[in-house]
Amino acid sequence: MTLLEVRDLNVSFQTADGVVRAVRGVSFDVEPGRTLGVVGESGSGKTVLTQTLLGLTPGSQVSGSAMFEGKNLLELSDDEMRQVRGAQISVIFQDPLTSLHPLYKIGWQIGEMIRAHDRSVSKKEASIRTVELLRRVGIPKPDTRVNDYPHQFSGGMRQRAMIAMALALEPKLIIADEPTTALDATVQAQILDLLIRLQQDSGTALIMITHDLGVIADIADDVMVMYAGRAAEKAPKRDVFYRPHHPYTKGLLESIPSSSASGERLKPVPGQPPSLINLPTGCKFHPRCSYVFGRCRADEPVLRPVDDGGAHESACWLPVASAGLSAEAERLREAVASGAGPESGEEAATDAEAAAAAQTANADAAVDEGLAKENDATADNQGSVA
Ligand code: SF4
Repeated sequence: MTLLEVRDLNVSFQTADGVVRAVRGVSFDVEPGRTLGVVGESGSGKTVLTQTLLGLTPGSQVSGSAMFEGKNLLELSDDEMRQVRGAQISVIFQDPLTSLHPLYKIGWQIGEMIRAHDRSVSKKEASIRTVELLRRVGIPKPDTRVNDYPHQFSGGMRQRAMIAMALALEPKLIIADEPTTALDATVQAQILDLLIRLQQDSGTALIMITHDLGVIADIADDVMVMYAGRAAEKAPKRDVFYRPHHPYTKGLLESIPSSSASGERLKPVPGQPPSLINLPTGCKFHPRCSYVFGRCRADEPVLRPVDDGGAHESACWLPVASAGLSAEAERLREAVASGAGPESGEEAATDAEAAAAAQTANADAAVDEGLAKENDATADNQGSVA
């Protein structure tokens, strides 16, 4: 049974410069005991996406649904959300030094987290559980280190302490937001091993947010590649690495250093991610895409299946047959881009896709209307205060 079912999630922010469309029409499922890797460059919307699920984007305009154990997370009150955060869904942030309070001992902070959700747990019981949690995540001499302050832990140990805190209430889902980015490669590998082992022991589901496909290769079962606030490609991990369809996914793969390609230059994805206030027309990746052709500049593609089972989806107008890294697939992509191949515009323009594209346009219009009303209300309030 699906643990988390997100449908058509849109998140926008009104700023002085205009409306930031941080997340646009994203849908995904997370199954118990499995890991969903969410990958993309900075500004692709991956962190806003998960923070919105936990009510951590105040001031945002949100639409869609996020069903978790029969409850829509987007409709919970602050009190109800406090019951969910930590106890049922917990988060591991990128920088443990800013997540841990510098003036309190590590053990006190973990114990307090346990007692904040269950006041029937005594301080002594919380302390015993804290030591056990620190032992579980591999902190040496946990019964003495429990009395250390955060600055007395190394970076890797602090991240282990954050993982212990995330596990404290045995949540069903852990969201790990770039948990290894601030760590060196050796410690990163240890933390990933730890997460995999703990997940196997407890059956917890995991959403791993990262910009690093190497991390995805280590830990994910399913992958969602995000670009400009939308899912560009969704697939089981194997398909993402061996049969990528979206040129952005292919670009991310080509920019990973490889020991077998010594002497070859890395191929970065050219250009910069777009401004989320002034998005390009059509496919949002078209200004950076090497295979851009006719309709890419005018029509935004929606996710469509590129395999028989439907588990692999891509939001790109290139023909389904162009998925993969083979020379044949590359020839087909280049033929379409040069106008010599079959434009998949006709092939892909099914009624379902047209309906989905119209739905996206309607959602954008609804966001604009909602924000306009909010602005009017704010202006009225300011007027009455004045
Ligand atoms: Fe490139 Fe066109 Fe595909 Fe967008 S739709 S990724 S521009 S080929």
